[in-house]
Amino acid sequence: MKFQYPKTKLRDVIDFYKARKAEFNLAHIRIEIGQNQKQTLEHYEKRIKHINEEYFPFFDFKDFHIFKKLNDLENFLLNLNIFTPTKIKKSIQHEKEHLKKIIELGYSANFGCIFTLTEKQKPSYVLMVVTPLDSLMSKEHRKKIDLAPKKPSLIDLC
Ligand SMILES: [Zn+2]
Repeated sequence: MKFQYPKTKLRDVIDFYKARKAEFNLAHIRIEIGQNQKQTLEHYEKRIKHINEEYFPFFDFKDFHIFKKLNDLENFLLNLNIFTPTKIKKSIQHEKEHLKKIIELGYSANFGCIFTLTEKQKPSYVLMVVTPLDSLMSKEHRKKIDLAPKKPSLIDLC
């Protein structure tokens, strides 16, 4: 895997995850107020597909990397010599806290790294734990996973 100067904008990545999370929350509200579960699920999947189609043209997928192990992701970032080891350790620790909760709740995960450009055109990255597509994880589990780290990120909090 090679590092190319990122083209994907950090702003777009955050907006993308926020949009997906909003649909997730909306689907749960629909079920809570008694709307048909099967239809809600179908609608949710359609909406997620729509959001993907809306945002994918803004992304450069060369900026997207996936790892099976958090250690591999950490070594990958360290070997680039672009970001400080302190920053990397901090973000890996953050993902570890998500992972601990994921395992505790009986899920498994892969690890994603998206290289991005900040508003000031500086390279940065977004890390995430990717749980297998389970259509619609329970709201409680989602919340527990998102809020597991001591300092949840912008995306974790939306
Ligand atoms: Zn997080």
